[in-house]
Order: sequence, then structure tokens, then C-alpha cells
Amino acid sequence: MSEQKFLPFALPDIGEEEINEVVDTLRSGWVTTGPKTKQFEADFAAFLGDGVEAIAVNSATSGLHLALEALGVGPGDEVIVPTYTFTATAEVVRYLGADPVFIDVDPATLNMTAEGLRAAITPKTKVVMPVHFAGLACDMDAIIALAREHGIKVVEDAAHALPTLYKGRLIGTLDSDVTVFSFYANKTMTTGEGGMVVSKNKDLIARCKVMRLHGISRDAFDRYQSKTPAWFYEVIAPGFKYNMPDICAALGLHQLKKIRRFQQQREEMATRFDAELCDLPLILPARPLEGGSEHAWHLYPVRLKPEAGISRDDFIARMSEKGVGCSVHFIPLHLHPVWRDGYGLTPADFPVAQAAFEAEVTLPLYTRMSAGDQARVIAAVREVLGA
Ligand SMILES: *Cc1c(COP(=O)(O)O)cnc(C)c1O
Repeated sequence: MSEQKFLPFALPDIGEEEINEVVDTLRSGWVTTGPKTKQFEADFAAFLGDGVEAIAVNSATSGLHLALEALGVGPGDEVIVPTYTFTATAEVVRYLGADPVFIDVDPATLNMTAEGLRAAITPKTKVVMPVHFAGLACDMDAIIALAREHGIKVVEDAAHALPTLYKGRLIGTLDSDVTVFSFYANKTMTTGEGGMVVSKNKDLIARCKVMRLHGISRDAFDRYQSKTPAWFYEVIAPGFKYNMPDICAALGLHQLKKIRRFQQQREEMATRFDAELCDLPLILPARPLEGGSEHAWHLYPVRLKPEAGISRDDFIARMSEKGVGCSVHFIPLHLHPVWRDGYGLTPADFPVAQAAFEAEVTLPLYTRMSAGDQARVIAAVREVLGA
């Protein structure tokens, strides 16, 4: 048997177009936020459509922080987040001195639900942050309706959800207050590091824009272009350093052009996994229920059923021995010391997320995988499960 190379859990799909655009940026003399970032923002807003505005930032974490800041979140406020997410969703709440309130998730989708949200609302609740786990939309109609009823703002953590369709509308164009996307290296498209804040609320976008760059009233490129002297600026708030450099936007310009094709490839791969794993003792990922809805397939998360007769940890170790990298999404926030000890959380408070975590394995699914690579993953899963 010939030695096969280890199949990593994730790889970015970067082509010559991206490489040439980065080189062009390096040669241009303008490497930080400038014309390419502006173009990327315009292209991104046009991609989503429906009158949204988009501002590019250096990570989704920065974007979520800016969104909450612009909504006036501060000490004494509560922000409701699912426990089944990455720590960034909750940490930005603490940046502003407010408190995250953690809720359990739906057993099928592993997304937060309107019922879970309703039970956690208090007079201090200021914002709810739905996370579209793996790229499958939360039930946003119910969540937004409930939030409106209670005067609560909605910030979508859409780090997994580009492009996700919810009842015929792209995530980013719904009636929430802000949506934030991630372009981290392993997301559905990448700028190395980066994120995008999207909203139809012009005042909110204006605030995010100022706070993205030190609280300065105009950015360096505006100053460079405008008729008033380039040296003049005013600082109107103690802002942050969250701007996206043109070197990163250069990647984003071309990744965005490919995002439809990436989604189609991911969808086809997910469909193949479904077909070839459906006879095994696995809970396969939930699919959208409504017509006109589409999964972004950032992740392909499966859960081992008890009759599989193997622990999650042993399963991942056996897959690794067979040369296939797997991961776990997520170690829920209630298990991390900072949140567990800081808020007195126990697994019993989150039975669904706890059980999901203990059984969950994320299989590799990315556009640089060949049909043969996917066949290897399928064969390895079947062998490890003795099928
Ligand atoms: C990746 C991720 C983030 C953070 O994205 P960055 O761009 O790395 O800051 C936030 N939330 C979720 C759910 C994520 O998976």
C-alpha cells in the first residue's frame, strides 16, 4: 500500500488571481486601507444587495465588537449568546463591560431558538447574537419578531454563513440590526484575517466606520483624496484599530467572485457525504427546512450515536491514524474556564449542547479536496465504524 499524504482538516482555496492582486497591491505603493478595500466593500454590498452597506474590518471579532459598541452596549447590559459557538461571540460582550447570557441550542440544528431566547430575556437584555452554526440559518423570523417585541437589538454572528439563504433571502439582508461575516483562513472565503460588518442602518455604519480607525472622522485614503489638507483630521471618540489593509482586501476581491462556485462545490460534497454515510450510526448535519433556504456548508458536523460503540476522542484519533484530519465544533462556552467560572455555568444547564459536544466530529469539507480525497474520508469513517 502506498503512503498517502495526511489530509488536513481545512485549506484555503487561493488562486493566481488572488496572488496577482496582492502583488499588484504591494507594487502600488498603497498597502493599508485604500482603493482595494473600498472596492471590496462595494462588491460585498452589491453581492448581498437589498440596500445594505458593508465595512471591512481586520476580523469578525473586531466587527462584532464594533457592532455592539455602535448599539450602545455597556456595563449593566446583558447580551444573549448560544453556548454552542466560538468564544469570540461572547468575549466582545465583555470588551464593553456587559455580560453575556448563555443559552442552550436546538438538538437538530445546534442553533439557538426563539423559545430558548424567550426564557433568557430580562429587563437588562440589550442584544441577542444568533450564530448560524456551520452555515445553516437560525430561525430568524421567530428570533427577530421576539427581539422586536422586547425592544432587543439583533446582531447576527454570520462567521459561518456566507452565502446562506434563509427563506429566499441572503443572511446579511434580513431585518436584524447588524450582521458580521468572517474571512478567517478556514472560513468559506478568506482574506487571511478579516471580516465584514453589514447593515442597512446608515447611522450605525457611520459609527462603526469612525470606531474602526481610532475614532478619526475621515480615514487616511479619504484624506489623501479630498481637497481639504491631507494632514487634517479630528478624533471624535476613543476608537479602535480594526481596519482591513488593501493587501487583505486584494484576496477578498477575488474570493468573493468565487463564492457561488465554492458554495456549489461544498453543497455537492455535503450531498455526497449524506448519501455515503447515511447507513452509519451517525447523526448527519441538519438541512434547511424551508424552501428557498440554502446551507453555506462552512462545516460538515456529524455526531456519533451511542450504538457506534466508539468515543468521539477515539474516533478522531483513529481518523488521524488513517491520515484524515478532523476537528470539533464546538467546545461549548460553558466548558471554558473563563465563562464556566466567571458565570457559574455547569453542563447540566446546557444538556443539548453538552451531549452534542461529547459526540461531535467535524469532517473535512473544503473546495481544494478532490473527489478522491473525499472518498478517502468516507472510507476512513466507514472503517473506523466497522462498516
Ligand atoms: C471564526 C468565528 C468567529 C471569529 O472570526 P474571526 O474573523 O477569526 O474574528 C466568530 N464567531 C464564530 C462562530 C466563528 O466561527
